[in-house]
Amino acid sequence: MKLVEKTSEKQRLDSLENIYPVELSAPDITAYAAGNSGVPYYTTLDSGIAGPHAAILALTHGNEICGAITLDTMFRCGLTPTRGKLTLGFNNVAAYAQFDARYPAASRFVDEDMNRVWATERLDGDDQSIELARAREIRPLIDTVDFLLDLHSMQSASPPLMLAGPLAKGHEFASRLKYPETIMCDAGHAAGKRLRDYGDFGDANSPRNALLVEAGQHWAASSGIVSTDSAVCFLQALDMIDAATAKSLSQDTRPAAQRTIEVIDRVTINSDHFQFHQPYTGLEVIPKAGTELGIDGNTPVVTPFDDCVLIMPTRRTWKGQTAVRLGRYVK
Ligand SMILES: [Zn+2]
Repeated sequence: MKLVEKTSEKQRLDSLENIYPVELSAPDITAYAAGNSGVPYYTTLDSGIAGPHAAILALTHGNEICGAITLDTMFRCGLTPTRGKLTLGFNNVAAYAQFDARYPAASRFVDEDMNRVWATERLDGDDQSIELARAREIRPLIDTVDFLLDLHSMQSASPPLMLAGPLAKGHEFASRLKYPETIMCDAGHAAGKRLRDYGDFGDANSPRNALLVEAGQHWAASSGIVSTDSAVCFLQALDMIDAATAKSLSQDTRPAAQRTIEVIDRVTINSDHFQFHQPYTGLEVIPKAGTELGIDGNTPVVTPFDDCVLIMPTRRTWKGQTAVRLGRYVK
């Protein structure tokens, strides 16, 4: 597809998806291009003291600028881990280079979603894309990471979520962070494996562990705060940040307690005409099973169980997409 066609298509999709003002501004990250790790845009800060290798990553989706703000803030404050090594890395830099605040949703990726390429068969396979090339470039470094936090944001103005994955070790790690309030346990997407589920991170018998935070709406000022606070809580849980630095970076208040949603089901769109009946944004609880959420062609979409929590309802309501995930608070 010619670049101009691709761009106008992205702008069309952008206008469908984006109804929120852009409150955050995308930082210039070119100063971090060289890095020091041998991988472009990856910098490893070494305390010189024994400890784990942690990584905080941003821009797996090129339009999710809160993560870039967090890493930029951490670099600027001269953060050094108190033990072990900390890698700060920007992932889909090619997509981020296309970020344009006039069409802020358009730069999620260049060729394909970089958070769906992490199955070993795809990484080792013959497919070629900008995102696969970047995943292959960062993979050797990712293979040395013990604890990973991937910083993301969401289409809708939903409260933040920590995606702990399907394994008990993910939930245990998310609980150690004590932030944000809501933990979501899910197995990811049929469309492809996420970075947080890659390799040993998805192996119950490995001590290596990964989390993904959805810090809030892509462009909301609050998402920048939640993203940075999540990163601070991640380093605190690993005992890798000193109290003064943590205090200087933290702005949000810690919840009194966390709660967990277990994802039970998902709604996949089967027609060219899908519509929700309400402007759901996420974490609405629908008390009664059988409540109609929307219509997919001529088929009503109903809640399959009582006290059904709606998770990340999409604005990309076209065929094949997950419209919404359905879960339940764990008692
Ligand atoms: Zn994302």
